[in-house]
Amino acid sequence: MKRDCDTAIKPQRESLASRYAGRTVVAIGAHPDDLEIGIGGTLAKLQKAGAHVVMVVASVPKDFEIRMAEARLGAKILGCELRLLIDDGPRRIEDLKTCDLVGLLDGVINDYQPAVLLTHSSADFHNDHLLIYNACLPTQRLAHFDFFSYHPTNCRPVPIAFHPKAYVDVTDTIDAKMHAITAHKSQFGGRGLDTEMYREFAHVQGRMMCGWCWLSRKTPPFAWSLANEVDQPGRLSRNRHFGWWRG
Ligand SMILES: [Zn+2]
Repeated sequence: MKRDCDTAIKPQRESLASRYAGRTVVAIGAHPDDLEIGIGGTLAKLQKAGAHVVMVVASVPKDFEIRMAEARLGAKILGCELRLLIDDGPRRIEDLKTCDLVGLLDGVINDYQPAVLLTHSSADFHNDHLLIYNACLPTQRLAHFDFFSYHPTNCRPVPIAFHPKAYVDVTDTIDAKMHAITAHKSQFGGRGLDTEMYREFAHVQGRMMCGWCWLSRKTPPFAWSLANEVDQPGRLSRNRHFGWWRG
């Protein structure tokens, strides 16, 4: 009979920061603001730890100049490089054939040779986000890199089933994330929408989960997982069902 300590999930020994320090991180979002909302704290954290972080915005559906200026400001606040995937003016992702979209994403992988790719998930409710997620999947044939999907992104609270297996402690970078989100004035302040729900969401996650954790100590070549950001983890007792670390 196995004891609890034999089957319990142990903390990851390698920190998130050290895993990608000195390497290239590519994050892909369908639109300007998706990356800031989904993983802004994580990107700032990785950049601070020495990673070269590239924020890839797939398309700008309208108000091209305004939204590009906001995207540039958001990336600057997070300390990241910005790349626009479909760069010939206002375009919708569904205007492209799937093979053309995959071809553009292949170009990103070939150009940057990332150690990890972060993008939308299959749990998303926005068709553009799903198109990007599905087009990112085949890029894994080109090289070995970690692959993470972040929480569905939206400008308003939407209940959706998302079951992450990894969590990132962004206590030190949550303010940068919030600042970067508010850079997208046309989507929030300009429409009278509040952004504080993102801090509150991360904080609730932090109270529940205590930090960055994995379901396995062994990280395969493709560390396939879903990730959530948490703020101020560990205020309550450790979650007994997960190993954890403070990346
Ligand atoms: Zn979006």
